[in-house]
Amino acid sequence: MAENYDVVIVGGGIMGSCTAYNLAGNPDFDGTILVIERDPTYEFASTTHATGGVRQQFSTPENIWIGLYGAEVIRNADELLEVDGDRPDVGFRENGYLLLAPEQGLADMKSNHAIQTEHGATVSHLDAAALKARFPFISTEGIVGGFIGEKNEGWYDPYGLLQAFKRKARSQGAVFRDEEAVDLVREGNRITGLVLASGETVGAGRVVNCGGARDAAKIAEMAGVSLPVEPRKRTAFVIRTKVDVSSWPLTIHPNGVWGRPEGGGGFGYLSGCTPEVDVADWDFEPDHSFFEDMVWPTLYHRFPEFEELRLESSYACHYDYNTLDQNAILGLYPGLDNFFISTGYSGHGVMQGPACGRAMMELIVHGEYRTLDLSRFNVERILENRPIFEVGVY
Ligand SMILES: Cc1cc2nc3c(=O)[nH]c(=O)nc-3n(C[C@H](O)[C@H](O)[C@H](O)COP(=O)(O)OP(=O)(O)OC[C@H]3O[C@@H](n4cnc5c(N)ncnc54)[C@H](O)[C@@H]3O)c2cc1C
Repeated sequence: MAENYDVVIVGGGIMGSCTAYNLAGNPDFDGTILVIERDPTYEFASTTHATGGVRQQFSTPENIWIGLYGAEVIRNADELLEVDGDRPDVGFRENGYLLLAPEQGLADMKSNHAIQTEHGATVSHLDAAALKARFPFISTEGIVGGFIGEKNEGWYDPYGLLQAFKRKARSQGAVFRDEEAVDLVREGNRITGLVLASGETVGAGRVVNCGGARDAAKIAEMAGVSLPVEPRKRTAFVIRTKVDVSSWPLTIHPNGVWGRPEGGGGFGYLSGCTPEVDVADWDFEPDHSFFEDMVWPTLYHRFPEFEELRLESSYACHYDYNTLDQNAILGLYPGLDNFFISTGYSGHGVMQGPACGRAMMELIVHGEYRTLDLSRFNVERILENRPIFEVGVY
């Protein structure tokens, strides 16, 4: 084998790059790190098409901790990811996530709120009158209020964040190669190397599968195992409004429509909905009917000032959907000595990158979690059909 690395990460999106950054920056780890990324432009990667939301409004404590740590890293990205005096600006906008509450969902949302508060999140419950007083542009018809993160919730530039992690990881010694991994070499319970599209084989002490929506399952197959991760298509719509929306929060409506301010001198808005659309690997065609049938009627109903808006463009991309329980799949694959998994984030992977990249580093370096205990997201639960579902979170 021409080259040998202690850790080879397949996929240089947010998960691969955060894992490389955490390994490279850890003084307890002096091994070599290779990240294999087939497309450095990230034209079809999930990370670069994400909405960039970060929140703690979940029902599972682990997801709350992950969201808190994600916000801390995003807030301090300029210092943490500085290279040679160059400080990245990832554009963190802490406007909050506003989850609107329908009558029938209120009990679950209240119980989630108690869990979030217990685990350190700063989320407020607003009844309909308080919601209207704080956000006069919202029509409260058909809802009984909402929940908003007062701190640590909002959005950022996912492309900028990815590039900042990648640059920092490189500056600390991680090697990124623009190549495709087409096969894994398995000897008994170990993966000993990877075959690249160029025909070259690279030796690996450990392999981390960060292949994302279309590829994590295929990379698992190369190792002779399986993962329940599939691509799901999400269409996003770029809208121009007549009102200045720059101070508005990221809002999630009870039917799954979401939206947040985006550029346009304060008059731009990015929106979409989250139906699960099964998709062929290379189908990136936006579903325009969602705009007419769901997005526009929902926005107009909730924000009457959106009566006049212009749809400027749309795009579609895939996210890594875990078909068992839509939560992270993180850890060593059972029965294999050195094949690690980090995928299945199902629409939350960018905000989860900082914590899950650090967690993967801890597993590799220490053989256990040292900061956040994310062991419930292990691969065993998948194989044993023990799902961890979010409750009342859309
Ligand atoms: C429209 C949309 C909105 C979203 N909004 C949010 C949001 O608001 N907040 C949030 O946290 N998350 C959001 N997500 C989800 C998030 O984008 C993903 O969960 C996350 O980006 C997954 O990161 P990843 O690194 O695993 O995958 P990716 O970013 O897809 O990276 C995987 C990389 O692996 C490479 N690769 C795959 N196979 C190989 C191989 N064999 N050889 C070499 N390279 C390979 C690919 O080229 C790719 O670059 C959204 C997703 C979409 C599509």
